[in-house]
Amino acid sequence: MIDFDNPNCPIKLQSLPDIREFNEFGQLDPMNEEQSNPSGKITRRYPNKLIINVTNACPMYCRHCQRRRLIGNVDKNSSKKDIDESIEFIKNNQTIREVLITGGDALLLPNDKLKNIFDKLSNISHVEIIRIGTRTLATLPFRIDNELALLLRKYKVQVSTQFNHACEITPEAVKAIETLVDHGVLVRNQMVLLHNVNDDKYCIQKTNEKLQKYRVIPYYLFHPKDIKSTQHFQVDISKGLEIMKHLEGRTSGMCKPTYVYNAPQGLGKVPLVPIENIEYAENGYKFSTWENKTIKKKRN
Ligand SMILES: *Cc1c(COP(=O)(O)O)cnc(C)c1O
Ligand code: SF4
Repeated sequence: MIDFDNPNCPIKLQSLPDIREFNEFGQLDPMNEEQSNPSGKITRRYPNKLIINVTNACPMYCRHCQRRRLIGNVDKNSSKKDIDESIEFIKNNQTIREVLITGGDALLLPNDKLKNIFDKLSNISHVEIIRIGTRTLATLPFRIDNELALLLRKYKVQVSTQFNHACEITPEAVKAIETLVDHGVLVRNQMVLLHNVNDDKYCIQKTNEKLQKYRVIPYYLFHPKDIKSTQHFQVDISKGLEIMKHLEGRTSGMCKPTYVYNAPQGLGKVPLVPIENIEYAENGYKFSTWENKTIKKKRN
């Protein structure tokens, strides 16, 4: 899919190594994920939801990947022992209501292994939601067939995926989306804001509109994390806020993801909203509308 005539082809920037990856700035694990591993292959940062990493393999090694430290050297599925230990931990912690199965790309596990994990999790009464993280809708759409869709539907598994640019929403990707959605599987998109790939308000608008058209719910727009070897993708937060301000009123509310910054040290996701949207004035609030009209509201 690379357009070699375009030096900023979004597919090329995301998939081919770049000399700028030798830049020494940034961290390997800014989220301190290694320090939030209570058991097995779990990453836990929140009281009622956690992640199980089931593999480190992916169909494509995205150059901007935030888990680069774990991915792309040796492909390895997590051991049965690690997965069983993770499930045991969840069983013993009644506060956990949502489990995210991710990687790497969780859909690189074969269906029977996935079924086994879904089966065990859905037998835990306090686990209400199973979510799966996969980029195969964009990177290996042929992975998604009726059999997989039926499996996900059976366990009411919700899908998080990653499309970063409208050009990734190919006819094959649309077919994968439709197979899931037509079977009743919820699909949400977690986009990453990336310099030269999509740091443009019209590009973000168009990509989210295309997702909405095909029934993928825009969920997050992630500010890029401070990962070593990905500095050339960095963008300033003012750029993301400008994009969010642009989306307001100019497109469907259904096309608007939440823009989030991941606080370092794994302190969690912080939603970012254009500062002019609300000001705290003396006796109340000052708002700025999408056309930059100012309105006031008294404190109640
Ligand atoms: C992002 C994240 C989640 C999921 O958060 P949502 O806002 O519910 O999508 C859960 N655990 C960890 C460690 C995370 O980083
Ligand atoms: S699919 Fe996700 S985990 Fe895999 S390389 Fe790309 S961004 Fe990283």
